[in-house]
Amino acid sequence: MKKIAIFVLCILILFLPLQVFAERKVPILLYHSIDEFKGHGSKELYVTPNNFEQQMMYLRDHGYTLLTFERWQDIDKVNKPIFITFDDGYKNNLNAFVVFQKVKTERFKPTGTIFVISDFIGRSNRLSRSDLKMMADSGLISVQSHTATHPDLTQIKNYRYELKESKGKIQQITGKPVITLAYPYGIFNDKVVAETKKYYLFGLTTTPKLFSKKGIKDELYLLPRIYIKYSTTLDDFAKIVEGE
Ligand SMILES: [Zn+2]
Repeated sequence: MKKIAIFVLCILILFLPLQVFAERKVPILLYHSIDEFKGHGSKELYVTPNNFEQQMMYLRDHGYTLLTFERWQDIDKVNKPIFITFDDGYKNNLNAFVVFQKVKTERFKPTGTIFVISDFIGRSNRLSRSDLKMMADSGLISVQSHTATHPDLTQIKNYRYELKESKGKIQQITGKPVITLAYPYGIFNDKVVAETKKYYLFGLTTTPKLFSKKGIKDELYLLPRIYIKYSTTLDDFAKIVEGE
């Protein structure tokens, strides 16, 4: 009996920690422009529509579940959760929307989050109100806030305008809740987090790593994101999302 008890105990000691500590790592990817690079701005902030399509097909064919922040609770329920995000609300994000439609299947529903700068909505190279409404209505895109004017949030005083007013304006356009803020330039401090908590459930940084739940204070306001760049090959992409 004693031997069996010790044996059982050993098995428990061997496997319990694995169960407890096998925290899943969740990639939150960051894109800007989905377009051919035509010489304007920084090339690494572009991903070509063709590369983007290859990347989304990779996720589809490797069993990933694309989530938006409304479904945060599902990271513990779905197979291989991943978040696709786009900053700055460029008009060319419509190309990403086209790719989503193209790679969609009965089993695979591509979804992503576009972080718009609310005062820039409708500028010539940015998404318009009707673009945002159309994409939000499709159920494939969640439109969230990247502030009103894209300031360094550690250097401002008018948090109400940048955080609350931008949220209100976007909600008024899409008719859907705005619960997530992407900090401009990924810059934040304790004050920024405290202000963000007043209006949002999540705050996104550009700390380049995968998310894993550690139970630390404010971790939902310090969510890390990994840049996908012009130069990111499909091989690099696979390594990033697999957490290698
Ligand atoms: Zn930005």
